[in-house]
Amino acid sequence: MQVYKTVDSISSEIGKLRQQGKSIGFVPTMGALHDGHLSLIAQAKQGNDVVVVSVFVNPTQFNDKNDLKNYPRTVEADLKKLEQAGCNIAFVPTEKEIYPEPDTRVFDFGNLNKVMEGKCRKGHFNGVAQVVSRLFSIVSPTRAYFGEKDFQQICVIKSMVKQLGLPVEIIPCPIIRETDGLAMSSRNALLNPDQRKNAVQISQTLFKAREIALNYSVEDLKKWVMAQINDNPFLDVEYFEIVDDVELMPIADWTEKKNKVGCIAVKVGAIRLIDNIRFNS
Ligand code: AMP
Repeated sequence: MQVYKTVDSISSEIGKLRQQGKSIGFVPTMGALHDGHLSLIAQAKQGNDVVVVSVFVNPTQFNDKNDLKNYPRTVEADLKKLEQAGCNIAFVPTEKEIYPEPDTRVFDFGNLNKVMEGKCRKGHFNGVAQVVSRLFSIVSPTRAYFGEKDFQQICVIKSMVKQLGLPVEIIPCPIIRETDGLAMSSRNALLNPDQRKNAVQISQTLFKAREIALNYSVEDLKKWVMAQINDNPFLDVEYFEIVDDVELMPIADWTEKKNKVGCIAVKVGAIRLIDNIRFNS
């Protein structure tokens, strides 16, 4: 595996690969790698000649300074995992490499940025679009792989790709969970043992909600989910919304002919976790 730290060095390697007609599968990450990330890499390996993974904790997508400061950073362990996973090129840039000048671009994602994560984390998706568009221009991927754990993020990235007319295919990948059901996340490492034990109630409640959905109206099911989780003193629901899977508009009735997904954000102490579940499969 080759490891690049500068834009110039990786760009010249990518140029060569492109000239040889190689397809490039790209997995952008913020590191602290777990099996969720590795599943994206496995899918990228299957569909492309070369796999590039970036590890960069992007400051412009953090609306909370403490979250940025506390975000787990484990670069050495990450590089080992990448090597084992068969990654061909790791890109581990500094902030100056990605943002030689401050990025002042402002994106318009309409409703996609007005609900859920967009509403609760002001500027988050603008920062995501800044870094992903910058990484795409450096890596020029044929395909890029994103986890459905960050469901809203995929919708935003697809919209960005369309708006900028980028020649990259966005491939959504399923959520990978711990054996007890908790969605894998780099932030899980920040939970203390009691918080970790209780956090499992988030996914358990979502699974149960899918089972009992049709016994309730959409509105009542939302209330049920929030009440169940808020009943646990370790957990505090920030939002739970049931939306369509393209525009993320609220679903009013189960009979609507749209794919439906329930998205949740929960504070576990100071740690904020997200998860989601599809309602029609
Ligand atoms: P992050 O490092 O958290 O920015 O995540 C990098 C990529 O991995 C994003 O596309 C995430 O959606 C994806 N990802 C994170 N956790 C999971 C998971 N549990 N299952 C599948 N993909 C994930």
